[in-house]
Amino acid sequence: MIDSLVPRSDFPLLATHPILRYLDSAATSQKPRAVIDAISNYYETVNANPHRGAYALSAAATEAYQHSRDGIATFLGVADTDTLIFTRGTTESLNLVAATWGRTNVRAGDRVVVTRMEHHANFVPWQQLCLAAGAEFRIAELTPLGEIDMPGLAALITPNTKIVAFGHVSNALGTINDIATIAQLAHAVGAVAVCDGAQAVPHIAVTFDSLGVDFYAFSGHKMLGPMGIGGLVSSRAILDTMPPYQMGGDMIAMVGDAQTSWNVLPHKFEAGTPNVEGAVGLAAAVEYLSDVGLSRIHAHEMALVDMAMRMLGELPGVRVLGPPSERRSGVVSFVVDGVHPHDLSQLLDADSIAVRAGHHCAQPLMRASGVPATTRASFYLYNSEADVTALVTAVERASRKLAH
Ligand code: PMP
Repeated sequence: MIDSLVPRSDFPLLATHPILRYLDSAATSQKPRAVIDAISNYYETVNANPHRGAYALSAAATEAYQHSRDGIATFLGVADTDTLIFTRGTTESLNLVAATWGRTNVRAGDRVVVTRMEHHANFVPWQQLCLAAGAEFRIAELTPLGEIDMPGLAALITPNTKIVAFGHVSNALGTINDIATIAQLAHAVGAVAVCDGAQAVPHIAVTFDSLGVDFYAFSGHKMLGPMGIGGLVSSRAILDTMPPYQMGGDMIAMVGDAQTSWNVLPHKFEAGTPNVEGAVGLAAAVEYLSDVGLSRIHAHEMALVDMAMRMLGELPGVRVLGPPSERRSGVVSFVVDGVHPHDLSQLLDADSIAVRAGHHCAQPLMRASGVPATTRASFYLYNSEADVTALVTAVERASRKLAH
Protein backbone atom coordinates (compact mmCIF):
# COMPACT_ATOMS: atom_id res chain seq x y z
CA MET A 1 0.00 0.00 0.00
CA ILE A 2 1.51 3.33 -1.05
CA ASP A 3 0.73 5.94 1.57
CA SER A 4 1.05 9.69 0.96
CA LEU A 5 4.68 10.77 1.25
CA VAL A 6 3.80 13.51 3.74
CA PRO A 7 0.85 13.73 6.14
CA ARG A 8 -2.29 15.19 4.58
CA SER A 9 -2.63 17.11 7.83
CA ASP A 10 0.39 19.24 6.78
CA PHE A 11 -1.98 20.77 4.19
CA PRO A 12 -4.82 22.73 5.82
CA LEU A 13 -7.02 22.59 2.71
CA LEU A 14 -6.81 18.80 2.60
CA ALA A 15 -7.64 18.68 6.29
CA THR A 16 -10.63 20.97 5.69
CA HIS A 17 -11.84 18.70 2.87
CA PRO A 18 -11.12 15.25 4.31
CA ILE A 19 -12.81 13.28 1.54
CA LEU A 20 -11.33 15.30 -1.33
CA ARG A 21 -9.04 13.39 -3.68
CA TYR A 22 -7.04 16.23 -5.18
CA LEU A 23 -5.60 15.06 -8.50
CA ASP A 24 -5.00 18.44 -10.12
CA SER A 25 -1.58 19.46 -8.81
CA ALA A 26 -0.31 20.06 -12.35
CA ALA A 27 -2.74 23.01 -12.43
CA THR A 28 -1.81 24.18 -8.96
CA SER A 29 -0.58 22.46 -5.80
CA GLN A 30 -2.04 22.69 -2.33
CA LYS A 31 -0.04 24.64 0.25
CA PRO A 32 1.50 23.27 3.44
CA ARG A 33 0.92 24.98 6.78
CA ALA A 34 4.60 26.03 6.74
CA VAL A 35 4.00 28.19 3.64
CA ILE A 36 0.78 29.75 4.94
CA ASP A 37 2.46 30.49 8.28
CA ALA A 38 5.52 32.04 6.62
CA ILE A 39 3.27 34.45 4.71
CA SER A 40 1.20 35.35 7.81
CA ASN A 41 4.33 35.79 9.86
CA TYR A 42 5.82 38.09 7.23
CA TYR A 43 2.74 40.35 7.30
CA GLU A 44 2.46 40.23 11.09
CA THR A 45 6.10 41.02 11.83
CA VAL A 46 8.09 42.34 8.87
CA ASN A 47 5.89 44.03 6.27
CA ALA A 48 7.21 47.27 4.73
CA ASN A 49 8.16 48.31 1.22
CA PRO A 50 11.69 46.96 0.68
CA HIS A 51 14.59 48.86 -0.90
CA ARG A 52 12.98 52.23 -0.17
CA GLY A 53 12.94 53.11 3.50
CA ALA A 54 15.90 53.98 5.70
CA TYR A 55 14.07 52.58 8.75
CA ALA A 56 14.67 49.19 10.33
CA LEU A 57 11.43 47.55 9.22
CA SER A 58 12.08 48.34 5.56
CA ALA A 59 15.56 46.90 5.93
CA ALA A 60 14.00 43.76 7.46
CA ALA A 61 11.63 43.45 4.48
CA THR A 62 14.58 43.87 2.10
CA GLU A 63 16.44 41.19 4.03
CA ALA A 64 13.42 38.82 3.93
CA TYR A 65 13.16 39.29 0.16
CA GLN A 66 16.88 38.71 -0.38
CA HIS A 67 17.00 35.75 2.00
CA SER A 68 14.11 34.17 0.06
CA ARG A 69 15.92 34.67 -3.24
CA ASP A 70 19.04 33.03 -1.79
CA GLY A 71 17.08 29.99 -0.59
CA ILE A 72 15.24 29.53 -3.88
CA ALA A 73 18.46 29.97 -5.90
CA THR A 74 20.17 27.31 -3.79
CA PHE A 75 17.22 24.96 -4.29
CA LEU A 76 17.50 25.45 -8.08
CA GLY A 77 21.27 25.01 -8.17
CA VAL A 78 21.89 28.63 -9.17
CA ALA A 79 25.26 29.81 -7.82
CA ASP A 80 24.90 33.46 -8.86
CA THR A 81 21.79 34.45 -6.90
CA ASP A 82 21.35 37.71 -8.83
CA THR A 83 20.59 35.72 -11.99
CA LEU A 84 17.30 34.53 -10.48
CA ILE A 85 14.70 37.11 -11.51
CA PHE A 86 11.38 37.02 -9.69
CA THR A 87 8.33 37.21 -11.97
CA ARG A 88 4.63 36.40 -11.62
CA GLY A 89 5.38 32.90 -12.88
CA THR A 90 6.28 30.88 -15.95
CA THR A 91 4.01 32.85 -18.27
CA GLU A 92 5.59 36.16 -17.36
CA SER A 93 9.12 34.70 -17.45
CA LEU A 94 8.66 33.43 -21.00
CA ASN A 95 7.01 36.68 -22.12
CA LEU A 96 9.95 38.56 -20.59
CA VAL A 97 12.42 36.58 -22.71
CA ALA A 98 10.34 37.02 -25.86
CA ALA A 99 9.93 40.77 -25.28
CA THR A 100 13.57 41.47 -24.43
CA TRP A 101 16.01 38.92 -25.87
CA GLY A 102 13.54 38.01 -28.60
CA ARG A 103 12.71 41.49 -29.85
CA THR A 104 16.38 42.49 -29.73
CA ASN A 105 17.77 39.48 -31.56
CA VAL A 106 15.10 37.98 -33.84
CA ARG A 107 14.91 39.59 -37.28
CA ALA A 108 13.17 38.92 -40.60
CA GLY A 109 14.48 35.67 -42.07
CA ASP A 110 15.49 34.23 -38.69
CA ARG A 111 13.83 31.16 -37.23
CA VAL A 112 12.35 30.20 -33.86
CA VAL A 113 11.71 26.51 -33.13
CA VAL A 114 9.26 25.16 -30.54
CA THR A 115 7.78 21.71 -30.01
CA ARG A 116 4.27 20.36 -30.51
CA MET A 117 3.86 19.67 -26.78
CA GLU A 118 4.32 23.24 -25.54
CA HIS A 119 1.93 24.93 -23.16
CA HIS A 120 0.46 28.05 -24.78
CA ALA A 121 2.78 30.11 -22.54
CA ASN A 122 5.77 28.67 -24.40
CA PHE A 123 4.15 28.76 -27.82
CA VAL A 124 2.13 31.93 -28.34
CA PRO A 125 4.88 34.42 -27.29
CA TRP A 126 7.25 32.88 -29.91
CA GLN A 127 4.56 32.64 -32.58
CA GLN A 128 3.67 36.30 -32.07
CA LEU A 129 7.33 37.37 -31.92
CA CYS A 130 7.90 35.70 -35.29
CA LEU A 131 4.79 37.27 -36.82
CA ALA A 132 5.95 40.73 -35.69
CA ALA A 133 9.56 40.24 -36.83
CA GLY A 134 8.83 38.44 -40.09
CA ALA A 135 10.71 35.40 -38.78
CA GLU A 136 9.91 31.72 -39.38
CA PHE A 137 8.03 29.89 -36.61
CA ARG A 138 8.59 26.13 -36.78
CA ILE A 139 7.09 23.34 -34.70
CA ALA A 140 8.95 20.08 -33.98
CA GLU A 141 6.54 17.15 -34.08
CA LEU A 142 6.16 14.29 -31.60
CA THR A 143 6.40 10.52 -31.85
CA PRO A 144 3.21 8.47 -31.44
CA LEU A 145 4.19 8.01 -27.75
CA GLY A 146 4.12 11.78 -27.18
CA GLU A 147 7.86 12.35 -27.06
CA ILE A 148 9.82 14.87 -29.12
CA ASP A 149 10.93 13.40 -32.45
CA MET A 150 14.60 14.28 -31.93
CA PRO A 151 15.82 13.77 -35.54
CA GLY A 152 12.89 15.93 -36.68
CA LEU A 153 13.78 18.62 -34.16
CA ALA A 154 17.46 18.50 -35.12
CA ALA A 155 16.53 18.99 -38.78
CA LEU A 156 14.51 22.12 -37.94
CA ILE A 157 17.39 23.77 -36.05
CA THR A 158 19.08 25.47 -38.98
CA PRO A 159 21.87 28.09 -38.93
CA ASN A 160 19.28 30.92 -39.04
CA THR A 161 17.64 29.64 -35.82
CA LYS A 162 17.88 32.15 -32.99
CA ILE A 163 15.71 30.53 -30.30
CA VAL A 164 14.76 26.94 -29.47
CA ALA A 165 11.95 26.85 -26.87
CA PHE A 166 10.86 23.61 -25.20
CA GLY A 167 9.33 22.28 -22.03
CA HIS A 168 11.24 20.26 -19.47
CA VAL A 169 8.11 18.24 -18.59
CA SER A 170 4.82 18.31 -20.54
CA ASN A 171 1.80 19.41 -18.52
CA ALA A 172 -0.56 17.57 -20.86
CA LEU A 173 1.28 14.23 -21.18
CA GLY A 174 3.83 14.18 -18.38
CA THR A 175 6.69 13.48 -20.83
CA ILE A 176 10.15 14.31 -19.45
CA ASN A 177 12.31 15.74 -22.24
CA ASP A 178 16.04 15.34 -22.78
CA ILE A 179 16.68 19.05 -22.41
CA ALA A 180 20.48 18.82 -22.30
CA THR A 181 20.52 17.32 -25.80
CA ILE A 182 18.06 19.92 -27.11
CA ALA A 183 20.21 22.70 -25.63
CA GLN A 184 23.28 21.26 -27.38
CA LEU A 185 21.43 21.25 -30.71
CA ALA A 186 20.48 24.90 -30.15
CA HIS A 187 24.00 25.92 -29.19
CA ALA A 188 25.51 24.16 -32.20
CA VAL A 189 23.92 26.86 -34.42
CA GLY A 190 24.38 29.71 -31.92
CA ALA A 191 20.72 29.78 -30.83
CA VAL A 192 19.60 30.24 -27.24
CA ALA A 193 17.79 27.40 -25.45
CA VAL A 194 14.67 28.50 -23.54
CA CYS A 195 13.21 25.92 -21.20
CA ASP A 196 9.76 25.94 -19.57
CA GLY A 197 10.32 24.27 -16.21
CA ALA A 198 6.81 24.79 -14.80
CA GLN A 199 6.10 21.07 -14.52
CA ALA A 200 9.66 20.00 -13.70
CA VAL A 201 10.79 22.06 -10.71
CA PRO A 202 7.97 20.79 -8.45
CA HIS A 203 8.67 17.13 -9.25
CA ILE A 204 12.28 16.41 -10.18
CA ALA A 205 15.59 17.75 -8.89
CA VAL A 206 16.68 20.66 -11.09
CA THR A 207 20.22 22.05 -11.00
CA PHE A 208 20.11 24.99 -13.37
CA ASP A 209 23.87 25.48 -13.57
CA SER A 210 24.31 21.97 -15.03
CA LEU A 211 21.29 21.90 -17.37
CA GLY A 212 23.01 23.70 -20.23
CA VAL A 213 19.97 25.84 -21.07
CA ASP A 214 20.12 29.63 -21.35
CA PHE A 215 16.76 30.51 -19.82
CA TYR A 216 14.68 28.49 -17.38
CA ALA A 217 11.17 29.53 -16.25
CA PHE A 218 9.08 28.22 -13.35
CA SER A 219 5.98 28.96 -11.24
CA GLY A 220 5.79 28.95 -7.44
CA HIS A 221 2.16 27.86 -7.15
CA LYS A 222 2.81 24.44 -8.70
CA MET A 223 5.54 23.68 -6.14
CA LEU A 224 3.65 24.29 -2.87
CA GLY A 225 4.24 28.06 -2.99
CA PRO A 226 1.75 30.89 -3.44
CA MET A 227 0.26 32.13 -6.71
CA GLY A 228 1.72 35.28 -8.28
CA ILE A 229 5.40 34.40 -7.80
CA GLY A 230 7.81 32.46 -9.97
CA GLY A 231 11.04 33.08 -11.69
CA LEU A 232 13.37 33.22 -14.61
CA VAL A 233 16.93 31.99 -14.36
CA SER A 234 19.64 32.82 -16.88
CA SER A 235 23.32 33.69 -16.94
CA ARG A 236 24.74 37.09 -16.10
CA ALA A 237 26.42 37.22 -19.52
CA ILE A 238 23.05 36.97 -21.25
CA LEU A 239 20.97 39.06 -18.83
CA ASP A 240 23.48 41.91 -19.05
CA THR A 241 22.94 42.16 -22.82
CA MET A 242 19.15 42.36 -22.53
CA PRO A 243 17.09 45.54 -22.30
CA PRO A 244 14.73 45.82 -19.31
CA TYR A 245 11.27 44.29 -19.53
CA GLN A 246 9.20 46.89 -17.66
CA MET A 247 10.13 50.42 -16.65
CA GLY A 248 9.51 52.05 -13.28
CA GLY A 249 10.74 52.13 -9.72
CA ASP A 250 13.65 49.98 -8.50
CA MET A 251 14.89 49.02 -11.96
CA ILE A 252 16.77 52.28 -12.58
CA ALA A 253 20.23 53.49 -11.57
CA MET A 254 19.77 57.15 -12.57
CA VAL A 255 16.89 58.90 -14.29
CA GLY A 256 17.92 61.95 -16.30
CA ASP A 257 15.55 64.28 -18.14
CA ALA A 258 16.52 62.70 -21.44
CA GLN A 259 18.05 59.31 -20.59
CA THR A 260 17.88 56.63 -17.91
CA SER A 261 20.41 54.02 -16.84
CA TRP A 262 19.50 50.62 -15.44
CA ASN A 263 20.01 49.09 -12.02
CA VAL A 264 22.17 46.00 -11.53
CA LEU A 265 20.78 42.46 -11.62
CA PRO A 266 18.31 41.26 -10.53
CA HIS A 267 16.62 44.66 -10.00
CA LYS A 268 16.92 45.67 -13.67
CA PHE A 269 14.18 43.13 -14.44
CA GLU A 270 12.01 43.71 -11.36
CA ALA A 271 10.25 47.04 -11.85
CA GLY A 272 7.91 48.26 -9.12
CA THR A 273 7.12 47.05 -5.61
CA PRO A 274 8.13 43.39 -5.46
CA ASN A 275 6.03 40.44 -4.34
CA VAL A 276 7.84 39.92 -1.03
CA GLU A 277 4.99 37.87 0.40
CA GLY A 278 5.27 35.54 -2.61
CA ALA A 279 9.03 35.21 -2.32
CA VAL A 280 8.81 34.46 1.40
CA GLY A 281 6.09 31.86 0.80
CA LEU A 282 8.03 30.25 -2.04
CA ALA A 283 11.18 30.09 0.08
CA ALA A 284 9.18 28.21 2.74
CA ALA A 285 7.87 25.88 0.01
CA VAL A 286 11.34 24.97 -1.28
CA GLU A 287 12.45 24.32 2.29
CA TYR A 288 9.52 21.92 2.68
CA LEU A 289 10.33 20.21 -0.65
CA SER A 290 14.02 19.94 0.24
CA ASP A 291 13.22 18.37 3.60
CA VAL A 292 11.17 15.68 1.85
CA GLY A 293 13.67 15.31 -1.01
CA LEU A 294 12.96 15.61 -4.74
CA SER A 295 14.20 12.11 -5.52
CA ARG A 296 11.70 10.65 -3.05
CA ILE A 297 8.94 12.83 -4.48
CA HIS A 298 9.69 11.70 -8.03
CA ALA A 299 9.86 8.01 -7.01
CA HIS A 300 6.54 8.36 -5.17
CA GLU A 301 4.84 9.95 -8.17
CA MET A 302 6.25 7.36 -10.56
CA ALA A 303 4.83 4.57 -8.41
CA LEU A 304 1.38 6.20 -8.40
CA VAL A 305 1.51 7.01 -12.12
CA ASP A 306 2.61 3.48 -12.96
CA MET A 307 -0.33 2.07 -11.01
CA ALA A 308 -2.82 4.54 -12.50
CA MET A 309 -1.64 3.87 -16.07
CA ARG A 310 -1.87 0.11 -15.58
CA MET A 311 -5.30 0.14 -13.93
CA LEU A 312 -6.85 2.73 -16.26
CA GLY A 313 -5.37 0.96 -19.29
CA GLU A 314 -7.19 -2.23 -18.27
CA LEU A 315 -10.61 -0.52 -18.36
CA PRO A 316 -12.55 -1.08 -21.59
CA GLY A 317 -12.47 1.91 -23.96
CA VAL A 318 -9.83 3.82 -21.97
CA ARG A 319 -6.65 5.01 -23.72
CA VAL A 320 -3.79 6.60 -21.78
CA LEU A 321 -1.76 9.13 -23.79
CA GLY A 322 1.98 9.67 -23.55
CA PRO A 323 5.12 7.65 -22.83
CA PRO A 324 5.69 4.79 -20.35
CA SER A 325 5.75 5.70 -16.66
CA GLU A 326 9.55 5.61 -16.40
CA ARG A 327 9.83 8.51 -18.85
CA ARG A 328 7.17 10.76 -17.34
CA SER A 329 6.40 12.88 -14.31
CA GLY A 330 3.23 12.71 -12.18
CA VAL A 331 0.66 13.21 -14.98
CA VAL A 332 -1.77 10.71 -16.51
CA SER A 333 -3.86 12.02 -19.42
CA PHE A 334 -6.50 9.71 -20.85
CA VAL A 335 -9.55 9.51 -23.10
CA VAL A 336 -12.57 7.23 -22.81
CA ASP A 337 -14.36 6.08 -25.98
CA GLY A 338 -17.70 7.85 -26.39
CA VAL A 339 -17.30 9.94 -23.23
CA HIS A 340 -16.51 13.66 -23.20
CA PRO A 341 -13.80 14.57 -20.66
CA HIS A 342 -15.96 17.38 -19.24
CA ASP A 343 -18.85 14.99 -18.51
CA LEU A 344 -16.44 12.51 -16.98
CA SER A 345 -14.78 15.09 -14.75
CA GLN A 346 -18.18 16.29 -13.51
CA LEU A 347 -19.13 12.77 -12.46
CA LEU A 348 -15.72 12.35 -10.80
CA ASP A 349 -16.32 15.62 -8.95
CA ALA A 350 -19.53 14.16 -7.57
CA ASP A 351 -17.28 11.45 -6.07
CA SER A 352 -15.02 14.22 -4.62
CA ILE A 353 -12.26 13.50 -7.13
CA ALA A 354 -10.75 16.67 -8.61
CA VAL A 355 -9.23 16.12 -12.07
CA ARG A 356 -8.84 18.48 -15.01
CA ALA A 357 -10.63 18.09 -18.33
CA GLY A 358 -9.86 20.10 -21.44
CA HIS A 359 -7.04 21.02 -23.78
CA HIS A 360 -4.66 21.83 -20.90
CA CYS A 361 -3.51 25.02 -22.66
CA ALA A 362 -1.96 22.81 -25.35
CA GLN A 363 -4.32 23.14 -28.31
CA PRO A 364 -1.58 22.48 -30.92
CA LEU A 365 -0.85 19.17 -29.15
CA MET A 366 -4.53 18.22 -28.92
CA ARG A 367 -5.01 18.91 -32.64
CA ALA A 368 -2.09 16.67 -33.56
CA SER A 369 -3.26 13.95 -31.15
CA GLY A 370 -6.67 13.90 -32.83
CA VAL A 371 -8.53 14.53 -29.57
CA PRO A 372 -10.24 17.81 -28.62
CA ALA A 373 -9.57 17.27 -24.94
CA THR A 374 -8.39 14.74 -22.35
CA THR A 375 -9.04 13.99 -18.71
CA ARG A 376 -5.88 14.58 -16.70
CA ALA A 377 -5.08 13.22 -13.25
CA SER A 378 -1.91 14.62 -11.72
CA PHE A 379 -0.23 13.36 -8.58
CA TYR A 380 1.94 14.91 -5.92
CA LEU A 381 3.52 14.11 -2.59
CA TYR A 382 0.21 14.21 -0.67
CA ASN A 383 -1.46 11.61 -2.93
CA SER A 384 -1.65 7.92 -2.15
CA GLU A 385 -2.60 4.58 -3.65
CA ALA A 386 -6.11 5.09 -2.25
CA ASP A 387 -6.44 8.12 -4.55
CA VAL A 388 -5.49 5.99 -7.55
CA THR A 389 -7.95 3.20 -6.77
CA ALA A 390 -10.74 5.71 -6.05
CA LEU A 391 -10.01 7.37 -9.42
CA VAL A 392 -10.05 4.10 -11.35
CA THR A 393 -13.25 2.89 -9.66
CA ALA A 394 -14.96 6.22 -10.35
CA VAL A 395 -13.80 6.31 -13.99
CA GLU A 396 -15.11 2.79 -14.53
CA ARG A 397 -18.50 3.63 -13.01
CA ALA A 398 -18.79 6.98 -14.80
CA SER A 399 -17.81 5.62 -18.19
CA ARG A 400 -20.38 2.82 -17.92
CA LYS A 401 -22.99 5.46 -17.19
CA LEU A 402 -21.88 7.90 -19.91
CA ALA A 403 -20.73 5.67 -22.78
CA HIS A 404 -23.08 5.50 -25.74
N1 PMP B 1 4.03 25.86 -18.83
C1 PMP B 1 3.54 24.72 -18.36
C2 PMP B 1 4.14 23.42 -18.82
C3 PMP B 1 2.49 24.74 -17.45
O1 PMP B 1 1.99 23.60 -16.98
C4 PMP B 1 1.96 25.98 -17.04
C5 PMP B 1 0.80 26.05 -16.07
N2 PMP B 1 -0.30 25.27 -16.45
C6 PMP B 1 2.51 27.14 -17.55
C7 PMP B 1 3.55 27.06 -18.45
C8 PMP B 1 2.02 28.50 -17.15
O2 PMP B 1 2.28 28.69 -15.81
P1 PMP B 1 1.64 29.94 -15.03
O3 PMP B 1 0.19 29.91 -15.35
O4 PMP B 1 1.93 29.63 -13.60
O5 PMP B 1 2.33 31.15 -15.53
